[in-house]
Parts: sequence; C-alpha cells; structure tokens
Amino acid sequence: MKQRVSGATVVGTPSATSDADWRELRAMAFAALDHAYAPYSRFRVGAAVRSGDGRIYAGCNVENASYPASMCAERVAVATAVADGARDFVALVIATDAAEPAPPCGVCRQVLGELGPRLEVVSCTSRGGESRWSVASLLPSPFTPHSLDRS
Ligand code: ZN
Repeated sequence: MKQRVSGATVVGTPSATSDADWRELRAMAFAALDHAYAPYSRFRVGAAVRSGDGRIYAGCNVENASYPASMCAERVAVATAVADGARDFVALVIATDAAEPAPPCGVCRQVLGELGPRLEVVSCTSRGGESRWSVASLLPSPFTPHSLDRS
C-alpha cells in the first residue's frame, strides 16, 4: 500500500500504535513532566511523540523570563525527534497536573498538523483524566506547505 504523507511517498502501512506503545508514551510523558521548567506559570507539561517508524521522543515545557521565548512540551518533543531524523508522527501523549486534560495550544496544533497529519493526540492528567483527539479535528483548516504556493 502506498500513501502520500507530507509530500513524500511512503511505501507500506505505518505501524499502528499498540496499547503497549500508548503505555510507553504515557510513562515517558509523565517522566518528562517531572523535568518541566515552569517557574512562571507553574503549569508543568510533559509530552511524548511517536514517529511513523516507531521511535518515541519526550519533551517538557521550558519557560523563560522573556515569556514569548517559552517552548511548549509538544514542540520540544517534536523538535527533538526531527533533530534525530524522525518524521511522520502518529501518536502524541500530553501529561499535566491540570484538573482537566489539556489540549495542545494553537501554535502546537499548527506544528503537529504539518509534521503529523495522521496524528492521534491523547492528553492525560495525573489524576487519571484522559481526552483523545485527531490532529485534524483540532486544526480543521490548517495553513499547509501548499498555502505557500504562488500562482
Ligand atoms: Zn503549545
């Protein structure tokens, strides 16, 4: 089976995310949460993302006294993965201590949609709450590489 993903032709069906994979993603996201640098908001976030070839990368939020310089956990995880050559993200877990599962912010939705158009996003709380979305449902009309096309 051939499918078109982010402009590249991929041969074969990407591996599905198993229950064991989701458990590993959750564990890594919560482990990363413990490393969050969030002295300003005190809103700690961990994330773990799985690439199409099965590799998993974690990230945490990294705030800065210059607030706009802060990085979300999701984008830290994705940037770490991209730096290692991973692409085509298929699963992401976000971990927080919030009362309700936190969805990714708008900036992260844009990044996730470009690098993982098939991405499933699960947000978990330390109290056991969980929500799940497709990235397409979170960002239904994304700005894509084709949006840069000129006539
Ligand atoms: Zn974000």
